[in-house]
Amino acid sequence: MNLVLMGLPGAGKGTQAEKIVDKYGIPHISTGDMFRAAIKGETELGLKAKSFMDKGELVPDEVTIGIVRERLSKDDCEKGFLLDGFPRTVPQAEALEEILADLNKKINFVINIDVNHEILMERLTGRRICKDCGATYHLVFNPPAKEDSCDRCGGELYQRADDNEETVQTRLDVNIKQTKPLLDFYDTKGYLRNIDGRQDIDKVFTDLDRLFGGLHE
Ligand code: AMP
Repeated sequence: MNLVLMGLPGAGKGTQAEKIVDKYGIPHISTGDMFRAAIKGETELGLKAKSFMDKGELVPDEVTIGIVRERLSKDDCEKGFLLDGFPRTVPQAEALEEILADLNKKINFVINIDVNHEILMERLTGRRICKDCGATYHLVFNPPAKEDSCDRCGGELYQRADDNEETVQTRLDVNIKQTKPLLDFYDTKGYLRNIDGRQDIDKVFTDLDRLFGGLHE
């Protein structure tokens, strides 16, 4: 099961990634997570990535493609993998095709969790995150039992600096512009599957599960 997961901020990509990985036991390969871990561990890769990430820019392709190649070559990817945050550009998608061809693999599906603009705005501006454990809540859709405190650990909840209306608008515009060519690339290849992300979390997962069921037939 070789998957690429795509979706705009707020589409529920993280939530579905967790559910897919839990059920199917494939590794969740998030380039953003790999860079954050490298920065925390103060590795050479972390040093390279940090200045770009701090500015909100993409880490250069030679670095990013290299770590993805290395990661996909590991034994735990034999059963499959879930790529998240990569590819972000058409050159990265082309590089991924090459990496997979070298490894004798191919993508089964590129999943796009599809949600319209107004709903994303509502979801993102209502998002709250625990300072201590990182759990996420939503003031309307998934409110904490006690306002401003985490159900799991009691930590204080905050709103991400980039979750206000104006910044969300910009983030969405930038993301739509970036992802459109990628979606077209994968559509042409026949890998793209749009999943209706306006549905509740379990229903989205049921749709995904049904799609993956087809892989064993
Ligand atoms: P994310 O957690 O996916 O939002 O990624 C956080 C940051 O990591 C991005 O803003 C980029 O600086 C960097 N990054 C993650 N994935 C990639 C990628 N595929 N190509 C380049 N930079 C990336």
